[in-house]
Amino acid sequence: MAKKTVKDINVKGKKVLIRVDFNVPMKDGIITDENRIVEALPTIKYVLEKGGRAIVFSHLGRVKDDADRAKNSLEPVAKRLSEHLNQKVNFVPFTRGIELETAVNALKDGEVLMFENTRFEDIKGKKESNNDPELGKYWASLGDLFVNDAFGTAHRDAASNVGIAAHIKSTVAGFLLEKEINFIGGTLENPARPFVAILGGAKVSDKIEVIQNLLKIADKVLIGGGMAFTFFKAMGYEVGKSLLEVDKVELAKELLKEANGKIELGNDVFTGKAFDPETERNIRPIDQIPADELGLDIGPNTIQIFKSYIENAKTVVWNGPLGVFEFAKFAEGTKSVALAIASIKDQATTIIGGGDSAAAVIQFGLSDGFTHISTGGGASLEYLEGKVLPGIACVDDK
Ligand code: ADP
Ligand code: MG
Repeated sequence: MAKKTVKDINVKGKKVLIRVDFNVPMKDGIITDENRIVEALPTIKYVLEKGGRAIVFSHLGRVKDDADRAKNSLEPVAKRLSEHLNQKVNFVPFTRGIELETAVNALKDGEVLMFENTRFEDIKGKKESNNDPELGKYWASLGDLFVNDAFGTAHRDAASNVGIAAHIKSTVAGFLLEKEINFIGGTLENPARPFVAILGGAKVSDKIEVIQNLLKIADKVLIGGGMAFTFFKAMGYEVGKSLLEVDKVELAKELLKEANGKIELGNDVFTGKAFDPETERNIRPIDQIPADELGLDIGPNTIQIFKSYIENAKTVVWNGPLGVFEFAKFAEGTKSVALAIASIKDQATTIIGGGDSAAAVIQFGLSDGFTHISTGGGASLEYLEGKVLPGIACVDDK
């Protein structure tokens, strides 16, 4: 179902609540990666340019007690936002109360304020994270309209997304949320074919529902990474010291049966003797993994097999690195597949959903080679599982 976006509402003179995802990594009060701030700018700028009064807010980290407050204040983020917007951002160091209300009511058209970390409300009773109805209602009362642009928390039912939406007359998506809905939601609903899904990462248990959902939709599911070894075991191979989830072998058998040939695991792996960046690298056919070695990357033949499917694809969805790409020796599979996907950019829709897979592609300098790199880790995973995300469901339909 198509969702309303910020372009469908008139924001002029309106107090516009904008929920962004400013959950940026910080070290000693310094922001170490400001991508999430940059990603939120189009929506905020749009509201300001159209004469709206922007009330911007987000969560940051986890806040259990007063000691967590100091290191999780959004004040440094407000400062960076102000520099990016090239205008004053009035930072209000509270999440409610007279000072916040006064600042909101003093806003003029085209001005912006930001209030403190929504999770400060978690200290007494998890009000934000458990979507306390009184809190959502209170925040909703501060504005006229609600723009949700926080994809990173769309899989959570919080007061600052779902709670506000329940108490305000209009909830729309910001540009970032719209992009995620179109690319992930739109692609899963109606993919151009052949549709190749690529799944990797550490554990089968993290990705069961993603595998199940993509098996339903994709034409081919390529599986690598640590999770492949549970499948190899299910096929009767010995996997040495490779990552293995013994309690998931039966499930892997069932998935292989259900998949009816749709799953492709390749036929060789790069192994080492230890989980160590300096360990010697060997190529092993999957039926010859020595007992004292562990698989750390997909092998060269497997890379070729995976490439042959990617070359003809019209849609590629990728979640999870195919090897321990953090070790230079075992990054080849992940990098080769990233390059193969980048090479079909002009003929296919190519999407990455997954925190580590996105990090890998950015580390290889290949992010321009993809149609869409999702900004959500947990949220993109749940979206790929085919779940309805509460932070999207609460946005008004067109
Ligand atoms: P994402 O965040 O993209 O969803 P995951 O969190 O599921 O991905 O998995 C990423 C991790 O999987 C990486 O840290 C990587 O080192 C690890 N991994 C990949 N292949 C293997 C392997 N063969 N053995 C152990 N760990 C692996
Ligand atoms: Mg991860």
